[in-house]
Amino acid sequence: RTVDPLYGRVMLKISGEALMGDQGFGLHPPTVERIAREVKSVRDLGVEICMVIGGGNIFRGLQGSAQGMERTTADYMGMLATVMNALAMQSALESMGVFTRVISAIPMDQVCEPYIRRRAVRHLEKKRVVIFAAGTGNPYFTTDTAATLRANEMKCEAIFKGTKVDGVYDKDPKKHADAKRYETVTYDEVLAQHLGVMDASAIALARENDMPIIVFSLDEPGGFRGILAGEGTYTRVA
Ligand code: UDP
Repeated sequence: RTVDPLYGRVMLKISGEALMGDQGFGLHPPTVERIAREVKSVRDLGVEICMVIGGGNIFRGLQGSAQGMERTTADYMGMLATVMNALAMQSALESMGVFTRVISAIPMDQVCEPYIRRRAVRHLEKKRVVIFAAGTGNPYFTTDTAATLRANEMKCEAIFKGTKVDGVYDKDPKKHADAKRYETVTYDEVLAQHLGVMDASAIALARENDMPIIVFSLDEPGGFRGILAGEGTYTRVA
């Protein structure tokens, strides 16, 4: 059965915590592998894939600065954490035969490529999965903003935000049985009602560029591929 995917080029944003499995910290290799398989299944549809992975499973700038560390230093540590996660994902993908490039906003030549927009586009055209690491390269930002920025630069058609639940709800569906999932929600509603899809600067950047955000469950096996094939449940922020 051939599938005509909904989009030709997408950005997948996942948090660092998505890679830690049931552990409280760090990387859980079987979980990294599971997510890599989900990515591969979408790559196998011919979809060009960008990825941004957070760093919260290792280090968050705000946490460091709350403990007395200088904020920008703490943020750089957070950005470095995202590089580790990107390398773990690259390793998992390449072990499955998926060609991958890690591109860092902070040059680290021995470890990965520096960010050069045209080069990144070329990798996508060659169907390599491109993982953007080190966030935006600037302190005081988040990887949600980095994902939105790179999605715009790479001319992705949508941002796929992988979470633990299959969309945006009016209240926490893990705590309230009567929580309702939105089919669609506007950027303004997300901001006004603090719906916690992504941080406010990322939402604003998406809104300015009409970049849709698809919020879906990463815990659902085959869910990512399913949505690209026109199935499954999710919330579209647009
Ligand atoms: N960070 C940053 N600038 C960026 C992206 C990330 O300073 O452009 C730092 C920030 O300290 C953040 C950490 O990297 O706390 C990890 O990123 P994030 O919190 O977005 O990860 P996630 O919550 O998605 O795992």
